[in-house]
Amino acid sequence: MSKQFAVIGLGRFGSSVAKELYDLHYEVMAIDINEERIQENVNVVTHCVQADSTDETALKALGIRNFDVVVVAIGQNIQASILTTILLKELGVETIVVKAQNQLHAKVLYKIGASKVVFPERDMGARVAHNLVTPNILDYIELSDEYSIVEIIASEKMNHKSLVELNIRARFGCNVMAIKNDHRINVAPDANDMIKTGDILVVIGHNKDLRKFEDFVM
Ligand code: ADP
Repeated sequence: MSKQFAVIGLGRFGSSVAKELYDLHYEVMAIDINEERIQENVNVVTHCVQADSTDETALKALGIRNFDVVVVAIGQNIQASILTTILLKELGVETIVVKAQNQLHAKVLYKIGASKVVFPERDMGARVAHNLVTPNILDYIELSDEYSIVEIIASEKMNHKSLVELNIRARFGCNVMAIKNDHRINVAPDANDMIKTGDILVVIGHNKDLRKFEDFVM
């Protein structure tokens, strides 16, 4: 049986998570205290329910503990976000993913049992910044404070060269995980695979090494 999701709070972030999961063919129950938000999302998820997630009785009535993953996407109201997370934990929800406003909020969320805390604005800000300073960078995912994955467009100077000729691992300390182009995605690139201008390289490495590689590609 496939996973069942509940999303609490249908602001921009929550409604986007809910819609995407539903489009991926998962069952999604969406909850918001605000009737208007319910009306806006009624056609993009499996069930849409108006309820206050800080009300334990309401959460029980919704059978929230039967969901595999509950996403708490309450934006501004930190108190409601924390109370909701505690209730979900007490009711025995296995995986609780919560959007945090700031570091202190995140710390509290982890202390009370959140499985994962996300900072969508901060992460998107970092991605946009990388894309602005290095237009060759399409995407950027932070794995930890030190390591990331970047998607970088191969420039003219890499055209018709193989990974072995470019010697990326030895010169820059980064690993090319995949090479994408219009036709296909090669997830196990061979040392002798040819790169063409415009191919997208998915590269993993230490941030310092990735920066060296980005400078080379530009
Ligand atoms: P974003 O920044 O992602 O757009 P918002 O702060 O605009 O987030 O949205 C948060 C949503 O959470 C709002 O739609 C709000 O009605 C909802 N919300 C706030 N408190 C509760 C609560 N106690 N129970 C359920 N939904 C809530």
